Amino acid sequence: MEIVPNVHVIPGTVVNVYLLIDADGLTLIDTGLAGNDKKVLKYIAELGLQPQDLKRIILTHSDGDHVGALAALKAATGAQTYANPIEAKAIQAGHPSRALKVHGVVAVLFKMMSIFFKAKPAAIDELLSNGQALPVLGGLRVIETIGHTPGHISLFAPSANILFAGDSMTADKEGQLRTSGGRNTWDAAKAIEAVKIQAALGAQIVCVGHGPIVHDAINKFPMV
Ligand SMILES: [Zn+2]
Repeated sequence: MEIVPNVHVIPGTVVNVYLLIDADGLTLIDTGLAGNDKKVLKYIAELGLQPQDLKRIILTHSDGDHVGALAALKAATGAQTYANPIEAKAIQAGHPSRALKVHGVVAVLFKMMSIFFKAKPAAIDELLSNGQALPVLGGLRVIETIGHTPGHISLFAPSANILFAGDSMTADKEGQLRTSGGRNTWDAAKAIEAVKIQAALGAQIVCVGHGPIVHDAINKFPMV
């Protein structure tokens, strides 16, 4: 589904997977769960393009629902892969970059569920640093937004005034943005700082990992 020209969200995945179109090829932001590679490749084919047209895969962080299809997509497309150094280390080891804050029975339950969120280790070709601009959509800026995980990044495209926030925020059904919090958040105070950094960018559209696309986003950031 096209959000704005050259920016698409691929439907049918647990996490929102975003596909960006440039003259020199395609860029994917996050990959979905293991097995979601088929949905991504189908979507690329429906655009009349080839797997090899996918040139870059950027990971916001190392959670399995975001990197689960990475190994398969890299093998199918030959795309270059990009992540923050802390998240890259975790992705290459095949586990998340932080433990969930769970104990007792809940911990057992999470351990059972974790099988669905398992990601195969995958190579990261390029490490990203805060403020760096990638040659995507006329300049896609890497914004360090740690809190949900210790090396989480968001991506901001000033040309389209669109922010890809990963899991640093979620969006509820009403399209209100929420700060990452609870058991899956590595550092709640840093997560609030990450929201402040992103609110200051002035993005019109915010694309989160979980929840609807948020339009007219300026007044929909959490109060922090
Ligand atoms: Zn996450």
